Amino acid sequence: MIIRFWGVRGSLATAITARQVEEKIRKVLELATPADLLSKEAINNFISNLPFSVRGTYGGNTTCVELQTNDNRTIVIDAGTGLRALGNALMARGKMKGHDEMAFFFTHSHWDHIQGLMFFVPVFIPGNTLHFYSCFADIEARLRYQMVTTHFPLTFDELGCTKVFHHFTETESVEVYGLQVSAKSVRHPGGCYSYKFRQPNGKTFIFCSDAEFNLATMDDIGPYIDYFFGADILVFDTQYTFEESLQKIDWGHSSAAIATDIAIRSEVKKLVLYHHDPSYDDDKMDNVLLQAIKYKSMMAPRHPLQIVAAYEGLELEL
Ligand SMILES: [Zn+2]
Ligand SMILES: [Zn+2]
Repeated sequence: MIIRFWGVRGSLATAITARQVEEKIRKVLELATPADLLSKEAINNFISNLPFSVRGTYGGNTTCVELQTNDNRTIVIDAGTGLRALGNALMARGKMKGHDEMAFFFTHSHWDHIQGLMFFVPVFIPGNTLHFYSCFADIEARLRYQMVTTHFPLTFDELGCTKVFHHFTETESVEVYGLQVSAKSVRHPGGCYSYKFRQPNGKTFIFCSDAEFNLATMDDIGPYIDYFFGADILVFDTQYTFEESLQKIDWGHSSAAIATDIAIRSEVKKLVLYHHDPSYDDDKMDNVLLQAIKYKSMMAPRHPLQIVAAYEGLELEL
């Protein structure tokens, strides 16, 4: 399957500012030499060698990750603001234009994980069926509640698609579009679930955002290590730096250092840093990734773990 990241920001959607764009342009001009501008090829080469924070941006939309299965079915994890662009992309691919279906998995219902639903065009099209899966039995009530007229102009019943709700628990797994899906509760204010997706070929993708693992929780982490063990791709909450995580106990998020420790212990193949803090600009995100890679080479120099930072538009194949 293909895993696409449409929203990677935590807590609050965060647009890039005019000043930040100007700063990127300034850096590019300072770095360029006359030879870099001699031909289109030279320019392309120059751009591709720039740090990601200078040539691109990690993105400001909140949690939304698409799984496109091998037989082109669509599963979406969380409906943060990134979902709006995904709706348009699905329709441009000829999907969800009526008489089509897809599935959602909701980790929890904090704003940054549900606010995109009302801006997802396929939800308004009669004939489309949306399957909503969650370990929270009351997820329908929660989604309805964000669409009361004091908060939004339309009600949940005015979304024209067919909505089907499926509840499952940590002790069972569900099969959705050929993927076996299981769940594990994680520490987060109000509760949250991580979901594990297993393909028929045995490869696994785990989504674990809005999850607090800190030094105190590392003592009884055994059941989580079992759950993460051998994952091919693990998306993990790394909202804070290690220093911040020491001050923000019980805020419900983890750091890249803790995530790296867990990924090493769990023999994970690829760790994706995720749920970036709204206060982190692109420079800081480059740095967070660099520090995580350095930390990994210090702690486990021979371990094959790869670490990447999620950005809007990142595509991973499994
Ligand atoms: Zn969140
Ligand atoms: Zn949350």
